Amino acid sequence: MHTYKEYDDVGVIKGVGKKKVEQFNKKKVFTVSDLLKYYPRSYKVFEEPEKNYYDALKSGKPLIAVVSGTEKFERKSGKMVMKVICKDSEGNSFMATWFNFAYNPFGFTNGSILVLDGKCSQAYGYNFITHPQVYRISEYEELIGKPVPTYSQTAKLKTNIIHNAILEALSDVDVENSLPKEIIEKRNIPDMLELYNKEHNPNTIDELYEADNYLSYEELFLFMLELKKRQLGIKKEKNKYKFSSCLDVIKLHKSLPFELTKGQISTLSAIETDLNGETVSSRLVQGDVGSGKTIVAIFALLMAYNSGYQSVLLAPTEVLATQHYEEAIKLFEKADINCDVELVNGKTSKEDKDRITTKLANGKPLIVIGTHAVINMADEFTTLSILIIDEQHKFGVEQRETLAKKCKPHVINMTATPIPRTLTLALYGNGSVSEIRELPADRKPIRNCKITNEDFDKVFNFISKEVEKGRQAYFVCPVIEESEMDGLYEVDTIVSMIKKNCPGINVAGVHGKSDAKYRECVMQDYKNGDIDVLVSTTVIEVGVNVPNATVMVVVNAERFGLATLHQLRGRVGRGSEQSYCIFIDCLNSDKSQRRMEVITSTNSGFEISEADLRERGAGELLGTKQSGDWNFKKADIFNKELVKTVTEDVNWYLGVG
Ligand code: ADP
Ligand code: MG
Repeated sequence: MHTYKEYDDVGVIKGVGKKKVEQFNKKKVFTVSDLLKYYPRSYKVFEEPEKNYYDALKSGKPLIAVVSGTEKFERKSGKMVMKVICKDSEGNSFMATWFNFAYNPFGFTNGSILVLDGKCSQAYGYNFITHPQVYRISEYEELIGKPVPTYSQTAKLKTNIIHNAILEALSDVDVENSLPKEIIEKRNIPDMLELYNKEHNPNTIDELYEADNYLSYEELFLFMLELKKRQLGIKKEKNKYKFSSCLDVIKLHKSLPFELTKGQISTLSAIETDLNGETVSSRLVQGDVGSGKTIVAIFALLMAYNSGYQSVLLAPTEVLATQHYEEAIKLFEKADINCDVELVNGKTSKEDKDRITTKLANGKPLIVIGTHAVINMADEFTTLSILIIDEQHKFGVEQRETLAKKCKPHVINMTATPIPRTLTLALYGNGSVSEIRELPADRKPIRNCKITNEDFDKVFNFISKEVEKGRQAYFVCPVIEESEMDGLYEVDTIVSMIKKNCPGINVAGVHGKSDAKYRECVMQDYKNGDIDVLVSTTVIEVGVNVPNATVMVVVNAERFGLATLHQLRGRVGRGSEQSYCIFIDCLNSDKSQRRMEVITSTNSGFEISEADLRERGAGELLGTKQSGDWNFKKADIFNKELVKTVTEDVNWYLGVG
């Protein structure tokens, strides 16, 4: 018997008290199992150090140094700079410098041999290494070759605390492999405990690779198995709804101020065919940001209403739900269509909820547009015929689970996030995936540009001019963890830079820590045009429609995945004015330059997802994970090999072709 069980509360772990439990919960770690699946965000590998300064300058690797003198000195601002004069093993001199140190923090003495891990650079004819990490040589030798994990941390929950809690759990825990035993045998999957150990505490890079491969296999297998089972189940559900074609659909079509695109039309006709099939359908609609998925959804909702049924459009946030609701009302009014539409979100009053549930329970035809809050009404629906899920990660599995249980509706998932075709085909099958490839004809292609942070001033000039013309702009900054302030711009910093450089402009900043009410007020003011420039972390929800916004500036663009950069760009170019997207690459490394090249060379999400695929080699493993777009902890759905293997295995296990 082991002390810890997988589904125990994380608080049972020795050394994890109440305060730490709170911190872990913030990171969505509630159980021992969650903790074991709290995988490192990256690893540091201690490489063999260089012996020569100039080699280190070239390779970026750590350097062995012999201390030959220390020196402190004060800058004008009153802050201290600490300098240590060193020689490499071949006698070349260089200077190690630290800023803001008022004392000798490492107890350097002449002649001590250290390993310095920092950035080498040359200036004014001198050799420097700035802000290096310092190791005693014996200490460093122990670390060579062993990947050391770093975790996504909070101010009160540092990497080493997380790591220690995980090691403690691993020392005495019962874990079971959740894969079916046939699969474990077929693929020779090692024991879970061994895999967790290799993931959190690898001795070599090879061990880490091994664990990584199996753990991503495990995650994708379990996910695909669930989804595939459901798809197969749906195929067996009889379609009990009869959809009649009706005049209102034609009226709505005629009243639109624009022509539907080819993709919109073919998607709609595929949906119509689905609705009248023998069995209940499940369709994935993929369309780039701004391709006009909402109107397709509204048509489907109208078809349900006119056939006398209830239907739901689910959006991930209140702002989006409200936006869809307003759009539907506006379109129906304009087309002179009588149709009952209700908005349901966290703010819906008890009276309104009662009124809506009464309608639902009485079997009245109704269109419900809303957030998660709709799920609480799941049992009240009597004729839910269509469920549309907009922009939900992981294919809206959980939402569908609850809402579809009783009425067995047709389900339509809509997404702008590029998903590799191999995966969508494996999950939905040919004929159940629709793509809206082209953007509406009146759009001017967004103009892209990449700059480095040296050219920040130019951005401010440009923004001032656009605002003068009456347009609006977004600035997006990365979410910053306390451990890594270097070279990153925070929301507040950008807000003050704009205030200073663009007098007279109304600017507001929001980030993850901002109060939800405040955030919503700011969003509303921005939509109304009372705020000219909005600075935020990625809290700008996917899909927000502010056609008057013409500039998107992504700060520290090197920190974002290609898919996210593309999503962010989709916030502009929604009206008929020329729009611009400026990517500020503050790292300007070979890799970031290559990625900026990809994103600025095309506006097509499909091309970007292809490029994304090529970008992600095995080398990505040690870097920051970007599959966050899909809420997978480990599985990389862009890994073709993995997707192929898992697809085959799921089909083999289920005994389907
Ligand atoms: P997304 O696919 O990102 O959800 P939306 O549905 O929000 O895109 O559409 C973006 C904008 O394009 C909306 O203002 C919508 O009214 C408009 N739109 C949709 N279809 C067309 C079309 N065929 N021609 C012109 N504009 C369109
Ligand atoms: Mg949308």
